[in-house]
Amino acid sequence: MDTEFAQVNGHDVTTITCVCGNTVSDEGLIQANSQGIPVHAGGDTPVPDGLAEWPDDEDLYTLCPSCGRVYRDGVIEETGTAPVAFRVDVTAGPVAAAIRIHWDLDTETEL
Ligand SMILES: [Zn+2]
Repeated sequence: MDTEFAQVNGHDVTTITCVCGNTVSDEGLIQANSQGIPVHAGGDTPVPDGLAEWPDDEDLYTLCPSCGRVYRDGVIEETGTAPVAFRVDVTAGPVAAAIRIHWDLDTETEL
């Protein structure tokens, strides 16, 4: 299977244009962990139910909440390309729940 690539400028994960066409300024992109679960970026505040903790190893991924494609930040920063790492189901299950929680809390999006 051929790997799909998102467009990205200058090794910057915030400039991704997802394979589906979504961008940060369109439907937004969400920082996620290696399972595609959106992570809590709220600093010292407790992690809300349903969100993942910020990974200790800083191994972050970028989730497109529109189509469920997930990109690995480290690969983008290192290579300047954005291959799709994996896909998750954004319509059901823990990822869908976490996306809703993420947007509910969305006062200080880091991306
Ligand atoms: Zn997408």
